[in-house]
Amino acid sequence: MNLFTYERASDASGAIDLARGNAAARYLGGGTNLVDLMRETVERPDMLVDVTGLPGGIEPRADGGLLIGAAATNTALAADPHVRTHYPLLARSILAGASAQIRNMATVGGNILQRTRCRYFYDTAAACNKRQPGSGCDARDGFNRYHAILGASPSCVATHPSDMCVALAALDAMVQLDGPGGARRLPLLDLHRLPGDRPDVETELKPGELITAVEIPPLPIARRSTYRKVRDRASYAFALVSVAAALDVDDGGMVREVRLALGGVAHKPWRASAAEAALKGRPATAESFRAAAEAELAAAAGLRDNAFKIELAKRTIVAVLTDLKGEDA
Ligand SMILES: Cc1cc2nc3c(=O)[nH]c(=O)nc-3n(C[C@H](O)[C@H](O)[C@H](O)COP(=O)(O)OP(=O)(O)OC[C@H]3O[C@@H](n4cnc5c(N)ncnc54)[C@H](O)[C@@H]3O)c2cc1C
Repeated sequence: MNLFTYERASDASGAIDLARGNAAARYLGGGTNLVDLMRETVERPDMLVDVTGLPGGIEPRADGGLLIGAAATNTALAADPHVRTHYPLLARSILAGASAQIRNMATVGGNILQRTRCRYFYDTAAACNKRQPGSGCDARDGFNRYHAILGASPSCVATHPSDMCVALAALDAMVQLDGPGGARRLPLLDLHRLPGDRPDVETELKPGELITAVEIPPLPIARRSTYRKVRDRASYAFALVSVAAALDVDDGGMVREVRLALGGVAHKPWRASAAEAALKGRPATAESFRAAAEAELAAAAGLRDNAFKIELAKRTIVAVLTDLKGEDA
């Protein structure tokens, strides 16, 4: 580990000022990912700006939505009564991740910006275009069970590991940012990038930008929503495939509205827009659910160890929608 300074900010402008102009500065949330990466020398900041003292409230908004301070812990968000009632998929996604101890430390901002768990990214002896641009990708022909089946590129097949972000993607969450160039808002779906030929550029954040809050719009159908994570172990494992979903079926059995997002399949949380479009106005039947899943996965491509995830994703979509329809009945 190289030498670094530690500063603690008490507000957003103080944090931004501390990091201003220093490409080697990093904001520090709970440290559950960043400190691991520092130990492995994948990250080598010369300054940590602790942002856990910034606002972390979880406030219902007048319009029925929610405003979540970036310093809110994952535990607090999953336990929040408003979240549990109005956005159960969000609470379930968080509880499906990590362990209680890690969730107690991890913040919303840090969860969104956690780095991939691709083992070749963590192994500094391996080729990884994300860690060292131009060095190659050992995952392509290596152990790639957990890797991407959608939106990957010859440069990178890593996946985004966050469970929480999959729910936020389904909910059309907005991310509030602040930085040297001022404050702005960005849809969560536009925050993370697909790898293309620059997998080292993971987000649309500008230098020095800080996540200050996340907004969740009101979404009545999310009261009937869920998150299912398929993984190799029942706990303490990242997703092979996950599905966040909300479904509204009318009295005639037709899909009035649906939200679907996938995790474990791509370099970013994956909104299943093709599946949503295929389902709207269609009968809420197993056949329609399967057709929607086929539409979403039509462009999927597998590697040596992960091709099974294509069928797994389809079946998980069908199973989750079937469960939600049952709840509606
Ligand atoms: C053993 C283990 C198992 C895990 N299992 C899962 C799992 O199953 N599912 C899952 O989703 N996650 C899992 N995680 C990951 C965990 O959720 C993340 O480590 C955690 O959410 C990161 O939050 P943090 O606050 O600790 O971030 P940090 O480690 O502090 O920071 C992560 C990144 O975000 C940046 N950052 C932090 N806050 C801000 C901010 N406000 N603005 C801008 N940048 C910021 C940091 O600079 C850093 O780059 C696991 C972690 C471990 C160690």
